Amino acid sequence: MGKVLIIGAGGVGSVVAQKCARLPDVFSEITLASRTKEKCEKIAALLDRPIKTSQVDADNREQTVALIRSLSPDLVINVALPYQDLSIMDACLETGVNYLDTANFESPQEAFFSYKWQWAYEEKFRRAGLMALLGSGFDPGVTNVFCAYALKHYFDEINYVDIMDCNGGSHGHAFATNFNPEINIREITAKGRFWEDGQWKHTEPFSVHEPFDFPQIGVREKYLIYHEELESLVKHLPGLRRIRFWMTFSQDYLTHLRVLHNVGLTRIDPVEFQGQKIVPLQFLKMLLPDPASLAACYTGKTNIGCMISGLKDGRLRKYYIYNVCDHEEAFREVRAQAISYTAGVPAVVGAKMMLTGKWSGKGVFNLEQLDPDPFMEDLPAHGLPWVEVFQEM
Ligand code: NDP
Repeated sequence: MGKVLIIGAGGVGSVVAQKCARLPDVFSEITLASRTKEKCEKIAALLDRPIKTSQVDADNREQTVALIRSLSPDLVINVALPYQDLSIMDACLETGVNYLDTANFESPQEAFFSYKWQWAYEEKFRRAGLMALLGSGFDPGVTNVFCAYALKHYFDEINYVDIMDCNGGSHGHAFATNFNPEINIREITAKGRFWEDGQWKHTEPFSVHEPFDFPQIGVREKYLIYHEELESLVKHLPGLRRIRFWMTFSQDYLTHLRVLHNVGLTRIDPVEFQGQKIVPLQFLKMLLPDPASLAACYTGKTNIGCMISGLKDGRLRKYYIYNVCDHEEAFREVRAQAISYTAGVPAVVGAKMMLTGKWSGKGVFNLEQLDPDPFMEDLPAHGLPWVEVFQEM
C-alpha cells in the first residue's frame, strides 16, 4: 500500500491517474497536482474512486516541497514536462521521498536533452537512501526493459539495437503532435544522432530513412532521430557496437514541419511582437490541437519495439520484440490516445515495482539497470502485451 503524488494533468497524467486508481491495493491514496487545478478535477471526475487534487507550480521548489510535506507520499510520479525534472527531484530530496519520471531533463532555453543533469543526482539520492527511477514511459522505458530482458534471457552479448517507433494512426487533423507539441517538435527537429564503434555520429534532421514493415500496421518510412534512451543504453549494455532510434513520419507531416521551421515558427528564442516578447514555438503550441483532444477521433495503431542482434553460445541471433497499441481501444478504456496510453501505463508499472519493493535501490536508475522480469510480467496485465520474434543465423 502506498501514497502517491502525481504531478502533471496532461494526456499522460490522465492515464496514470486512471490506471493507479484501479489498483487500490498498490496505490492506497492518490493526489493529482498540476499548474491548472481544473484539469486535475476533470480527470478526478473520470474515476470511480475519490482522489485529492491540488494546484502546484513545479518549477517552484518551495511550493512543491510544501505540497509534498502536506501529503507525505511514498512516491512522486512526475508526468509534467521535462523542464520540471530537476526542481521536483530537489523537492523529493528535501522531503525524503522517492521519485519517478518519463522524460529526461532539458532546459527551456536550449533544445538539448541529456541524462547528465539527472545522473549528477546519483550521490545525493544514494546518501539520502532514496530511489529515483528515470524514464519510465514507453520510449524511454519499456524499450530499455526490452533490451535488459533480451540480455538476461536470450543473449550473451548484444551488439546491435534498432529501436523503432511507428504511429500508424490517424487523427483527422492536417497537423498535430501526439504529445506536448513544444517538447515533441524540439525533439524531432534536432540533428539525428546514433552510436557506433565507440562514438556518437551525427546526421542532418530526417536525412537517413528507410522503409520497414511494421507488424499489424504495414510498410512505413522510418527516420533516424536521436532519442534519450540511447544515452543510457550505451552506458549500460556491454558489448554494444551500434544503437539507433527510428520514428515514422508521413510525407504530409514532414512537409508541414518543414514549412513551420522555414518560416521560423519552431524557434525557441524569444522574438519581439507588438511590444511583447514571445517564443514562436510556444505560440505555435497554443495554435495546435491539445494532444489529449485527438483521442476521441484517433483510429489505427502504434507499434514500438526493439530489433536486437548479438551472440548466444557463439552463434549470431536476431530478436525482435514489440508492442502494438490500438488508439480506439485506448480511448474506450481511459479516454486517451495510444501515445499517452503507452507512456502512462509503464509509469504506473514502474511505480508499482517501486511501491511493492520489486524494484528497490539507493540512487538514480534507468530501467535497464533493474530486473526486467517482474516489469515484463506486469505489462500485459496492465494493457501493454508484447510479442517476440526469433531468428537464428
Ligand atoms: P501535456 O502537455 O499534455 O501535459 C503536461 C502537464 O504538465 C500539463 O497538465 C501541465 O499543466 C503540467 N505542467 C507543465 N508545467 C508545469 C509546472 N511548472 N507545474 C506543474 N504542472 C506543470 O504533456 P503529456 O502529458 O503529453 O506529457 C507529459 C510528459 O510525458 C512529458 O514530460 C513528456 O515528454 C512525457 N512523455 C514520455 C513518453 C515516453 O514514452 N517516455 C511519451 C510521451 C510523453 P497545465 O496544463 O496546467 O499547463
